[in-house]
Amino acid sequence: MTQVTPASRRHATANLPPPEDGDAVEVSGLRCRYGDFDAVRGIDLTVRAGEVFALLGTNGAGKTTTLEVLSGFHRPAGGTVRVLGIDPATQSAKLRSQLGVMMQEGGFVGELTTVETLLLWQRLVSRPDDPERLLARFDLGSRRDVAVAKLSGGERRRLDLALAVWGTPKLVILDEPTTGLDPESRRRAWDAIGELAEAGRTVVLTTHYLEEAEALADRVAIMHGGRIAATGTLAEITASQPARFDARIVGPPPAPPPEISGELVLGRDGPDTTVTGATDHLQQDLTLLLNWAERHSVTLEGLRAAPASLEAVYHAVRESDSETNQDEHHKTETEVSL
Ligand code: ATP
Repeated sequence: MTQVTPASRRHATANLPPPEDGDAVEVSGLRCRYGDFDAVRGIDLTVRAGEVFALLGTNGAGKTTTLEVLSGFHRPAGGTVRVLGIDPATQSAKLRSQLGVMMQEGGFVGELTTVETLLLWQRLVSRPDDPERLLARFDLGSRRDVAVAKLSGGERRRLDLALAVWGTPKLVILDEPTTGLDPESRRRAWDAIGELAEAGRTVVLTTHYLEEAEALADRVAIMHGGRIAATGTLAEITASQPARFDARIVGPPPAPPPEISGELVLGRDGPDTTVTGATDHLQQDLTLLLNWAERHSVTLEGLRAAPASLEAVYHAVRESDSETNQDEHHKTETEVSL
């Protein structure tokens, strides 16, 4: 099975016609409320036609609510939203024919079998597709005559995904499409999403699996507390955090560590020395470290250096928010004590 990555997909699409120009999704100042609770607090979002865009974030960040707005299921409290040039709040019927949606809960008829569900979908959706193709694509062939109510959670999720990609819609919106899937099924789901992208379709998805975003997404946004904390390509997002490096020296360090622009810490691990560092200037600081090692005839065992991971950015977003919350909390306490 082919491994899908945004880079390999670009290679795969080299011989295909370029995707449509323009933006598939344009969101400006989107606000959503449940009663007096602000779930989405003024977000801006642009998804270009033909890209896979992943919305990441903590529980309750507002991702599902945002997807519900894009799908026409939730009327926003403020802001402007255009999906394929259409306002989903007022023209959802027009949008429906170009859209495939998979939310966290599929609305199935439990008594219908898997294949009957696909056949029903064939009658309901104007885009042509083949139930057999989708049974094979999502490995549901052996479950074709089983009532949906008797499918496992993962099998239902795969059927839901099959309905969302039915007829290769122009835009596919997927809310946690691989939650609860076993590794093989997840890989198949990734392949199906990769196929949509290869066909020049746009995909907007949410996920809690950072490796999924890394494998699939051309661009990501990290949401937290109803706001977008970071957005861009993975390279752009990870560039906002320092690169890390580490190594090990047998025995004690021969000399004080070199001065670098970033952070360099020598620690102890039994008789040996650990070397860890973080820097915004990886090449320059690594050169200083390597020159120091050369000068002192030191071997930097297992030397590793890497740009920040998406996980590091994700944690930085959470940490900076909890610091802000603590500040707000202190402010409130001060205000109260005054
Ligand atoms: P998760 O990753 O846990 O699925 P999410 O980022 O998708 O979270 P949302 O489901 O959009 O978050 O919810 C955002 C906030 O709005 C949460 O605090 C949630 O409790 C609240 N919320 C969502 N739906 C409703 C509702 N129908 N009524 C009241 N509050 C709601």
